[in-house]
Amino acid sequence: MSRTLSQIAHNSQFDIQIRQALLTAQRSGRQVGLLIIDFHEAEKALEPADGSADLSEAFTAIADTVRESDTLWRITGTGSAVLLSAVGHPDDAILVATKILDRLDQLLQTTGNQRLQSQIGVALYPHHAHSASSLLECAEIALSTARKNKERWVLYSPQLSGSPRPPLHLRELRQAIVQDQLFAVYQPKIDLRDDRITGVEVLTRWRHPLYGLIMPDEFIPLAERTGLIVPLTLWVLNQAIGQCRRWRDEGINVSLAVNLSMWNLDCPELPEQIAGLLGSAGVPADQLELEITESALMDDPQRAMRTLKAIRELGVHFAIDDFGIGYSSMSHLKKMPVSSIKIDKSFTQNMESDNDSAIIVRAIIDLGHNLGLKVVAEGVETLAAKKMLLEFGCDEAQGYYFSRPVPAAEIRRQLREPRSIAVTSPENPHAHTGWAAEKRGDIPAAVKPVL
Ligand code: C2E
Ligand code: CA
Ligand code: CA
Repeated sequence: MSRTLSQIAHNSQFDIQIRQALLTAQRSGRQVGLLIIDFHEAEKALEPADGSADLSEAFTAIADTVRESDTLWRITGTGSAVLLSAVGHPDDAILVATKILDRLDQLLQTTGNQRLQSQIGVALYPHHAHSASSLLECAEIALSTARKNKERWVLYSPQLSGSPRPPLHLRELRQAIVQDQLFAVYQPKIDLRDDRITGVEVLTRWRHPLYGLIMPDEFIPLAERTGLIVPLTLWVLNQAIGQCRRWRDEGINVSLAVNLSMWNLDCPELPEQIAGLLGSAGVPADQLELEITESALMDDPQRAMRTLKAIRELGVHFAIDDFGIGYSSMSHLKKMPVSSIKIDKSFTQNMESDNDSAIIVRAIIDLGHNLGLKVVAEGVETLAAKKMLLEFGCDEAQGYYFSRPVPAAEIRRQLREPRSIAVTSPENPHAHTGWAAEKRGDIPAAVKPVL
């Protein structure tokens, strides 16, 4: 994985130069703007067939757009940063951002890749941050919001961090991984025909010593930006495989699904690491499933295929996660060694009220079956949704209607006493199975399996 700005800032001249620029700005009482530009997509589009990326065109386009007094850094990988030395008003920084984006878009159009987009995160000193590292962090948060919301540029605001607490730090997450602050919760997948649990998805939580429970939507992006997703994924795999071993010892055989990030596909050691973990725990490979999003697979189908094939050869299964919201090439999809697709929860949740969503769900089920894949619907919250999915011929479902993600001991109870998944209320029969605990954030501090 290429290094990100945060990593570079921790390690290099980049940080020193921003600090110097901020000191100068402070002395002269000026406002400074930091733009982080992600031309990841542009990079791919401009990459010649021989794979030797030449980004000078993109870089020149950016340089042409900014003033001589501004500082431009070319960052290895897919990013670039511009420090605007004097910003009178936030709109000035946004104007520069849109000019840069227009230039990059023009470049992309010449390659016929209009679908691809570059994005910019904008933060201002001293308005948003008083130090180089927090300015950089604010700009990165803005950029990741732009990516998430598919916007061209985003200006940082404190609300973007999603909470009143300061942005999470790389250092804290690194500590979380080594100091056992992470823990796994488990959500069952159910066979729609007989309500049997067919598998369990492993989802990660962070119990922060100061801020309490932090959900993955907040820390996985940080892990991805900083490269920590690689040790984090290994931590989750280790948990999942260890849990599987303990359940097997009790005669419970259930497959566990772990989420992979697109950055994991860049890791040539991953197949070997997975083989090592399975081998030392004595867990058969076919009890492990890896979920990977459609967009991660399609980001670089050749690379994805190489990694997937090597892992599939071990006997591990693959599911395509969040299916329907990304962009898939059917010809690539057909070749991928996947066993199932998981319909994104946005469709399942809207299916009852929105006919278009229902049509999409039905179409995905048919498509999956025609490709010989098992189809799992995510985000099933009501009995009505469950019934519709059954009628559409969907195979499996996952969602709050059946169970929230819960500690291992609760899943064990559900697995041992299938009848404990008894209907207690027609709309949310399993509300008692732990979701309330998760909502309150009072999952036991160390969710070590109590087996
Ligand atoms: P995902 O892989 O799509 O996981 C399903 C998410 O939907 C989970 O959120 C789950 O709690 C939630 N969910 C399940 N059933 C329902 C439902 O009926 N209604 C609604 N509204 N939501 C439901 P969670 O645990 O917050 O995870 C969010 C995302 O974070 C996951 O989405 C996954 O992309 C990522 N994630 C979680 N753990 C890991 C991990 O260990 N590694 C990686 N790479 N990503 C992870
Ligand atoms: Ca998933
Ligand atoms: Ca999903």
